[in-house]
Amino acid sequence: MAYTKKQRRVYNAAYRLTPTGRAARAHAAIRAAVRQRLLYPDQVAAHHAVNNAIRGGYLIRLPCEVCGEPKSEGHHFLGHVKEHWFDIQWLCKKHHSELHKGENKCDLANATTGMGM
Ligand SMILES: [Zn+2]
Ligand SMILES: [Zn+2]
Repeated sequence: MAYTKKQRRVYNAAYRLTPTGRAARAHAAIRAAVRQRLLYPDQVAAHHAVNNAIRGGYLIRLPCEVCGEPKSEGHHFLGHVKEHWFDIQWLCKKHHSELHKGENKCDLANATTGMGM
């Protein structure tokens, strides 16, 4: 198969629109969520609690503490145990990942996928 990169991209984009493609993507998302829940149950619970609190109006998302970017993510600086669920530092994606660089306590790539946090 002599696909160019561009053809491959067009093919993949079309595939994602087919029912099979959609189902495959949904399954991948579910697998990732299940894996996340098994590996880091505290982290998932903490992020859900934060999301629910924001939705319920109990918690307000603030701009990044470093640069003021309004699209911020909650950083659990005291960890993900229940008593610290709402001890959050608001950071944008860039400053949040900078903070986690070289630290594998919190698997950030997985933590933020699809959660918009
Ligand atoms: Zn920032
Ligand atoms: Zn964090």
